[in-house]
Formats: sequence, C-alpha cells, structure tokens
Amino acid sequence: MGKRKKSSRKPTGPRRREPLETAFTCLFCHHDKSVTVRLDRKEGLAQLVCRVCDQRYQSKVNHLTEPIDVYSEWIDAADAAQREEQTVRRGNPSSSRPIIPPAPPSDDDDDDDDE
Ligand SMILES: [Zn+2]
Repeated sequence: MGKRKKSSRKPTGPRRREPLETAFTCLFCHHDKSVTVRLDRKEGLAQLVCRVCDQRYQSKVNHLTEPIDVYSEWIDAADAAQREEQTVRRGNPSSSRPIIPPAPPSDDDDDDDDE
C-alpha cells in the first residue's frame, strides 16, 4: 500500500471499529470523552484520569476487566462517597442559620413612656 497522505479527511464512517471504548464522559466536569482509562494488566491496576479536571481513580483489574468496568466502578465509588457525605451531614440539618447580631442594649428610652 502507498504512503498515507496528509489530508484533513475526517473519520466519519457510520461506525468505526475501535478496539475498545476507553474515553468517557467525566462525572465531575461533564466533558465528553475527557476521562481515559488505562489498564495495566501486568500490574493488575487500572488508572482512570480526567484530562480536564484531573479527577483520578485507581482500581484493580483482572484479565476480564474492561475500561468500561473501571468507569462504572468509578461512578459507583463517586456515588457512594457522595451519599456518605450526605449521611454525615444529616446530623445537623439547619447548620446554615444566619447569624443574628446581638440586640443593642435597651436604654430606658422607649420603656418609660408614661401617658
Ligand atoms: Zn473531569
């Protein structure tokens, strides 16, 4: 086959056959395909990172783990963390009370109005 020409052809096939989907939408910054998952099967580790907001997640992998598994695990973990936070905060529901300034000392100005 010939050399690849440097052209600005866009890959707009109906469905490109990609080996595996490894880019996902970020949970935190909501950028499309900003989250990438790298599987290191030798180390048994998965690294998930968002290149936009720098969210990171690490997980263990086995020979069956796919990037999408790591991604959904990340969602679960983030979800659980959020729920945990809410549970912790539930102890004090009205913690954001406005601070009322102390009333000025009432002198006997208004009190003794004798008619
Ligand atoms: Zn992000």
